[in-house]
Amino acid sequence: MLAIATPDLEELRMTGSRGAPARIAPIAGPVTVTGVAQRQAWRARELPPVEQVRSGVWSVPVTIPDNPLRYTLAYLLLSDTGAVVVDPGWDHEGGWEDLMAGFAAAGLAADRVTGIVVTHVHLDHHGLSRRLSEASGAPIAMHAAEVDALPSRIREATESDAMQTWLARCGAPADVAAEFNSDLAEMLGVFRLAEPDVLLNDGDSLDLPGRQVRVVWTPGHTPGHICLHDADHDVLLTGDHLLPRISPNIGLTPGSKDAPLASYLDSLRALGGYDGAEALPAHEYRFRGIAGRAGTLIEHHDARAQEVLDVIAASDYATVWGVTTKLTWSRGWDQINGFMRRAALFETAAHIQYLEQEGRLAIRPGAPGEPDRLEVVPVVPAGR
Ligand SMILES: [Zn+2]
Ligand SMILES: [Zn+2]
Repeated sequence: MLAIATPDLEELRMTGSRGAPARIAPIAGPVTVTGVAQRQAWRARELPPVEQVRSGVWSVPVTIPDNPLRYTLAYLLLSDTGAVVVDPGWDHEGGWEDLMAGFAAAGLAADRVTGIVVTHVHLDHHGLSRRLSEASGAPIAMHAAEVDALPSRIREATESDAMQTWLARCGAPADVAAEFNSDLAEMLGVFRLAEPDVLLNDGDSLDLPGRQVRVVWTPGHTPGHICLHDADHDVLLTGDHLLPRISPNIGLTPGSKDAPLASYLDSLRALGGYDGAEALPAHEYRFRGIAGRAGTLIEHHDARAQEVLDVIAASDYATVWGVTTKLTWSRGWDQINGFMRRAALFETAAHIQYLEQEGRLAIRPGAPGEPDRLEVVPVVPAGR
């Protein structure tokens, strides 16, 4: 069902090629931490402070209940005539109180909010958009490509027979197929997420008089994920696209035409032009070293692609499900439960799709009732 709607699963990460120690999660990268108080709080397992990062730029931690990510960093962008709130956070009473505490620290009244912008529609970012919009009257904006990622839009497609067929072709056992239903999504309230009032595109400026904040489209983690570049202060709000310590989940949405991993790698390369900026991520802490961090994540996915090929080469009948269970994860496969198994399958499928598009593996349709079989395509040496 809803890969796109699952909360970010910090504890389930790719750990890289054959468990090489340097690549055991978290995926360390060459960053300079600028959010020192945030990192201190992270290590102490506390909520970091509300901080004024720049004149008119506030960072507000909003609690995510029962989640190892612990909080989302919402940002308040203030101008003389209004204010934009970026990623208001998870929809629960405690989260709303966190957000209002940030408003109070910044001297911002809810009725002064003139816009709500989400980097993407995951629950830990977009959850409180509806409540904030109702409290302020402010419109909600997101990238045009993100609309179709709203769970209410993809619900039918993901609950269809096509999903069961896809799972069967992956070789997923029956109990995994049975877990793909919307009960959990219903419980989490993902179908109550707000529809957008305003659609954004790459290069658009936010409606915030006196300030220059531009949309940078960075598809991958979701199809319409955006970063926001504040040119006056040279800061880049990176959402989940680029985080200092962990790697965001990049998963296939069965039935969609998106190529999430190829898009993600392109979006990482595109951040090279912002290397001078300070990164203001939606989780963990602020940092510098955008290009280096993007490079580390590209290498990580390269290593993971090689691991996928190695697993396939060593299997008699490699299936997407079989590969998923044999890859190294940040915990043992036997400790990965239903909800995370789904994320792992979609993430593996994204790698397999990418490798097929690169011509490095082939997906052979199985006989009726049998799953598809994966084969490594031998590399032809150059010059032949
Ligand atoms: Zn996310
Ligand atoms: Zn997130």
